[in-house]
Amino acid sequence: MKPPESIAAARVLAYASVSSCDFQGSNLFVDGVALGPVPRLAIAEDLQSGTTLLLRCGLDWSVLGLSGHPSAAAARSRAEREYRGSSSLWRETGYSDEEARAARETSWGETRCSICGRTPDHYAALVKSPSGTSLCDQCLNDLDTAR
Ligand SMILES: [Zn+2]
Repeated sequence: MKPPESIAAARVLAYASVSSCDFQGSNLFVDGVALGPVPRLAIAEDLQSGTTLLLRCGLDWSVLGLSGHPSAAAARSRAEREYRGSSSLWRETGYSDEEARAARETSWGETRCSICGRTPDHYAALVKSPSGTSLCDQCLNDLDTAR
C-alpha cells in the first residue's frame, strides 16, 4: 500500500512496511511513553523547512511519532537501529514537490481559515462556528479589535 503524497505537511520520499522486522526498541517518546513497534515507516521531507523526517505510521499512514534527521540516509540508519532488516525494505515513492504540495492543499480543506485562507502551518488555533465557518486566531483577533 503506497502512502499519500503528503503526510504531516511533508513530501513522502520512501516507505517501508516493517511489521515483519525485529523491533529493537525506540528512544522516541510520545506523551511521555516510549513508542512501541509500528507497522509502517515513511521518510518525508518537510515542505516548509526541508527537514528530513522519519515517520512512524499506522496501517492507514496516520503519524504515531516522528523524528528529524539531517538526511534520508541518516533516517534510514535510525530506522535500521529500531527495526532490524528494514534497510532492505525501503521503496521510493517518486512523488514530486508539486504533487506533495497539491495533496497538502486538498488534505487541508476544512482546516483552512474561511476568511484569510491561512493553513495550519500559519495559525496557532482555528475556531469553527456552528454555521461551518472556520476562523483562525489571527482573524478572531482582528474581529475583536474592530468591535
Ligand atoms: Zn484567518
